Amino acid sequence: ANSPLAGKVALVTGASSGIGEATAATLAAAGAKVAVAARRADRLEALATRIQKAGGTALRIEADVTSAGDVTAMVDKVVSDWGQLDILVNNAGIMLLSPAAEAVLDDWRRMVELNLLALMGVTKAALPHLKAAKGHIVNVSSVAGRVANPGASGYAATKFGVVGFSESLRREVYADKVRVTVIEPGLVRTELGDHITNAAFKADLGKRLATMEALTAEDIAAAILYAVSQHPRVNVNEIVIRPTDQE
Ligand code: NDP
Repeated sequence: ANSPLAGKVALVTGASSGIGEATAATLAAAGAKVAVAARRADRLEALATRIQKAGGTALRIEADVTSAGDVTAMVDKVVSDWGQLDILVNNAGIMLLSPAAEAVLDDWRRMVELNLLALMGVTKAALPHLKAAKGHIVNVSSVAGRVANPGASGYAATKFGVVGFSESLRREVYADKVRVTVIEPGLVRTELGDHITNAAFKADLGKRLATMEALTAEDIAAAILYAVSQHPRVNVNEIVIRPTDQE
């Protein structure tokens, strides 16, 4: 079998659906041992079973990454079970679209807490282990981290934030041989839109998905695998991937 990641340990947040789920399965198929973290235990269990049936190795970790206690326990669990952490995929996120004038403040708070603050906290908790392993951090931002569309002010604020955080981080940790990659997908068919509270924006996203060929979660997983399976001298800093149908 082709196992470019044999001997590596990966942790994927938001692994219970969409991009995180596909990435966990892809990294496991490439030979990594993969810890899958999210809140929905049943979905994690189904994924871990799928990975194991395919001959891979998975560890389920029920964690809310906006909880500092859960984050510490999550990282400790990976390292206590497997002795190392080589690849961190910070993927958990939500996209609660609405015009700024109509924004629900709690939507903004949830996005900042999950998409930005939790990603920063998980990174900090994992960093000592990633330095020890000369590891790799993959942060899932978005095209919305480069182009701020109307209706996405809160979401774009968090995703531009991820880009800024990642670039500063890269320049801090390259000397430790830790690599940092930012992934910036366009529209991917996942559960991301299901949580939008603004009815008009939720319907509009549904319409866009119905009238275009969006990316699949596996398309993004393939990009992440590309970044993390390069020779250690190669630091793939940024990957932007849009559907061919997207402007
Ligand atoms: P999904 O909604 O399918 O997946 C989101 C994941 O995040 C789920 O596994 C969810 O699991 C997890 N999650 C949510 N809240 C928490 C929490 N508090 N603690 C731990 N995990 C949490 O959407 P996608 O796969 O599309 O999204 C993944 C990432 O990709 C996000 O960062 C998103 O912004 C980004 N992205 C997506 C695009 C798209 O078009 N789909 C485009 C560009 C970027 P659970 O609820 O079980 O905790």
